[in-house]
Amino acid sequence: MADDLLLSVDFEDWHQLVRRRVGAANWREPGPALARQTDAMLSLFDDLGVRCTFFILGVAARAHPQLVERVASGGHEIACHGDAHVPVFAQTREEFEADLQSATNTIEQLTGRHPVGYRAPAFSITRRTPWAHDVLADQGFVYDASEHQTPVVRDRARTADTGARRLPGTGLWELPVAAARWRSLTLPVGGASYWAITPTPVVLAGLRRAPSDAGLYLHPHELDPEPLRPLLQGRQRLKAWLRTAQRNAARRRAADVLRAISARHRLITYGEAHERLSANGRAGS
Ligand SMILES: [Zn+2]
Repeated sequence: MADDLLLSVDFEDWHQLVRRRVGAANWREPGPALARQTDAMLSLFDDLGVRCTFFILGVAARAHPQLVERVASGGHEIACHGDAHVPVFAQTREEFEADLQSATNTIEQLTGRHPVGYRAPAFSITRRTPWAHDVLADQGFVYDASEHQTPVVRDRARTADTGARRLPGTGLWELPVAAARWRSLTLPVGGASYWAITPTPVVLAGLRRAPSDAGLYLHPHELDPEPLRPLLQGRQRLKAWLRTAQRNAARRRAADVLRAISARHRLITYGEAHERLSANGRAGS
């Protein structure tokens, strides 16, 4: 039974990532929408009276330093989403170490804080990356939020325990995204991209069944007050069309679903949950 849920945003620039996906040379330039998306997120969270964990992507932070400073000064938790948004399973251990280091440096320079929480791009810590948790612990991280019981992630570690737990060996805590079991079916109910295709009462029923301290995640573009436009030309524009249509569907529902969730659950940051869990762990050991 989930009472507290952990609220998070994967803080990335949709336009940068879409441009890179279609091979545009200028992909690192700041996109035109993250500022208004950040305004919308921060005012929604203020309205709901909640604080959120922002998993910051390095390449987005360098393009929008002033937005990262605003998020940090709003009292939200600053965590790390890696640097270049390359799946962890597509990197070597050394590449992953360098990516993490680069993101951490950027975040420290902008906020003066060393992030202690990590979420892999596209939940890409899998059975193919057995070294990932060691690297995180070596670089001073205390929790990982990359576990997501969804069919979209290939080769993910299968585990019977879907709740928050301490990982053996590293001392790291795993704080998974909310998933609900119905008989043999596991329904991912923690992500705004799933809320787009799931009726609100089903999301709410799923979250009632999820383990306590389960995670919710949104992206800035899902709270965009305006329709997303990739601002590409010709063939590139066509390639981005389907992705844009899917994202706009999610955009229309995310804020309403989050309001409904917050009327039923206390929303807290990952850092807050981690502090409580590790204090209880110490008391129990
Ligand atoms: Zn991401």
